[in-house]
Amino acid sequence: PYTGPSAAEILAKRKTYLSPSLLHFYNKPLNIVDGKMQYLFDESGRRYLDAFGGIATVCCGHCHPDVVKSITNQINRIQHTTVVYLNHAIADFAEALTSKMPGNLKVVFFTNSGTEANELAMMIARLYTGCNDIISLRNAYHGNAAGTMGATAQCNWKFNVVQTGVHHALNPDPYRGVFGSDGEKYAKDVQDLIDFGTSGHVAGFISEAIQGVGGIIELAPNYLPAVYASIKKAGGLCIADEVQSGFGRTGSHFWGFETQGVVPDIVTMAKGIGNGIPLGAVVTTPEVAEVLTRRSYFNTFGGNPVCTAAGLAVLKVIEKEKLQSNAFVVGSHLKERLTALKDKYEIIGDVRGRGMMLGVELVSDRQLKTPAKAETLRVMEQMKELGVLIGKGGFHGNVFRITPPLCFTKDDADYLVDAMDYTLSKM
Ligand code: PMP
Repeated sequence: PYTGPSAAEILAKRKTYLSPSLLHFYNKPLNIVDGKMQYLFDESGRRYLDAFGGIATVCCGHCHPDVVKSITNQINRIQHTTVVYLNHAIADFAEALTSKMPGNLKVVFFTNSGTEANELAMMIARLYTGCNDIISLRNAYHGNAAGTMGATAQCNWKFNVVQTGVHHALNPDPYRGVFGSDGEKYAKDVQDLIDFGTSGHVAGFISEAIQGVGGIIELAPNYLPAVYASIKKAGGLCIADEVQSGFGRTGSHFWGFETQGVVPDIVTMAKGIGNGIPLGAVVTTPEVAEVLTRRSYFNTFGGNPVCTAAGLAVLKVIEKEKLQSNAFVVGSHLKERLTALKDKYEIIGDVRGRGMMLGVELVSDRQLKTPAKAETLRVMEQMKELGVLIGKGGFHGNVFRITPPLCFTKDDADYLVDAMDYTLSKM
């Protein structure tokens, strides 16, 4: 049993000693002391079904025994930088990771986070092309350091500091976007930005395949092929941010960009890659990777033995436990049941996403699509009382984000939907 400080004591310390900008869900924040696969446990031993762990990095399940074993074996041997010394863990994982990549995406740079991965990807695109302009999508989230904050495009996450060279295209959002599901019409806006906002040459384009922080928005069909063609014509590189949508989460594909049938020049990833261990990666072609030999480039802990041992274990678990196909089967069932709730409750404006990356948007008026922000918080709070943790997102904070560990079962999905159904029925 847990014998540490209470939630109240931790909260008091947090208020005194930690950044005042930290956010937490729930009126009474949860003190999570244990995790096992799709479950989290609080200080009293109460179990919660975790339908948001995917966002906070867990893909195989909390404390998956194979991943834990791989990490502990490695940390008992050596944990060090791999910049100046050799170690097989980094090389083995790079080899395994590139085997999951299409085309000539065969070179990996490891980082410690998604932000770092996108910072590096954007710099590589700028170096390779000799151009500065990058196009990203409105409503995107790509990180919060100098360059990536420029690419991130929601005022909620941007500070008033210098963020140069990023243009934000119309978001190809099938629910709220001006062109509905017509991906090619939105893509024309990227061409317009190139023609009227730049010299005609750009460094590149960066986007998620399904916007996570932005509220589980799947890019309109046919969008990426048209945009990638425009970017290529303007001499730029296409960057796919797979921080949330990668590693089988979409069910239908291993990588989110594959759902649009494109092959990027650079792919970035983090979160699920290490099942909770800080790790990120940039994968590109040998030709593009060459630009980093112009100067010294290193990252002390990027790709360290412990984190890459975790990464390799994750890939093996995904394969062994057929987690991608589980994401497809269970995710499709979950989406079907959530969609049925939409018929029952007027407040559900949209159900969307793929596999185990699903969103439910609450609106107080279906015609006007008025965000039902307060109701979203209330439902989350009450579902927590029923033992189910879901996330929220979207610019207006009115979208449930359902991104469980990929080991989520059909029973878990049913329990989640029943809890949501019950909660909505009481409102
Ligand atoms: N890209 C995407 C799509 C993300 O969702 C996030 C994190 N929410 C990031 C990049 C940044 O990752 P990190 O927080 O690890 O820096």
